[in-house]
Amino acid sequence: MRLIDTHCHLSLIDDKEEIIKSFEINNIEFVIEVGINVENSFKTVELANEHENIFCSVGIHPNDSKNLTNKDYDSIYVLANNKKVVAIGEIGLDYYREYTTKKEQFASFSNQLQIAKENELPVILHIRDAYDDAFNLLINEGIPENTGVVHCFSSNWKTAKKFLDLGFYIGIDGPITFKNNHTLIEVVKNTPVEYILPETDSPFLTPVPFRGKKNNPIYVKYIIEKIAEIKGLNKDNVSEILSNNAKKLFKL
Ligand SMILES: [Zn+2]
Repeated sequence: MRLIDTHCHLSLIDDKEEIIKSFEINNIEFVIEVGINVENSFKTVELANEHENIFCSVGIHPNDSKNLTNKDYDSIYVLANNKKVVAIGEIGLDYYREYTTKKEQFASFSNQLQIAKENELPVILHIRDAYDDAFNLLINEGIPENTGVVHCFSSNWKTAKKFLDLGFYIGIDGPITFKNNHTLIEVVKNTPVEYILPETDSPFLTPVPFRGKKNNPIYVKYIIEKIAEIKGLNKDNVSEILSNNAKKLFKL
C-alpha cells in the first residue's frame, strides 16, 4: 500500500530527519508540510527544498492572525512562488480558541484567499467551530478556481455536502479512528472517495492504536485503512485513489 500524508507539521518536530528517513521503508510516497505563520512558512519551504518527497504550503493560521501587516502578506506571496509550494494554508477561521478576534481572522483569511487566487493555488482550510462563517466568506469573496481542502473536517454530513458542492475536498484525520465518532463516519460514508484526502496533522491528532503518543506521517496508514473499512473497499485501491486525489488537487 503506497501512502501519502497531505497535512503534516514536521517542522514542529525535533527528530524530523529520522522520521523523513523512515518514509521509504514505510511506503510513504510523499507528504505535504503545512505552514502556520510567516516564520514557519519559511521553514516549510526550506524543508521541501531539502527533500524530494516533501511538498509544502505557506500561510497564516487563524490563531496566528494577530497584528499582521502588509509585509507578512507580501512574504507569503513571495514564498508562494517557490516551485515546491502547492497550496496556500492553513488559512481559515477558528472560534474554538480566542487568540485572535473575528475581525483579525476575517482579514487574514480574505487576504490569503486573494494570494491563492493570484498564484492559481488551492487553499488548505482550517475551520473550527466556524463552518457557517467560513462558508459565507468563501461565497462572498469568490471560490478560488483551484478550490482546496477542508482540513481535518470536524462537522456533519450536511456541512460537508455544502463544501463538496463548491468543489472542495474533505480532509480526514486521526479522529476517524476514535471510538464512536458516528458523525465523522457518516461524512466518510457519504463523501465520494474521489473527494477525500488523508491527513495526519502530525505531531497532533494521533490515530488509534497510537493515540496518546506523538503523531507521525507513517501513521496515515491507520486513517486510510479506516476510510477503506467504512467505504467497504479494498485498502490498496483506496490508497491509490486518495493518492491520485492529492495529485489532482495539488497538481503534483
Ligand atoms: Zn495543521
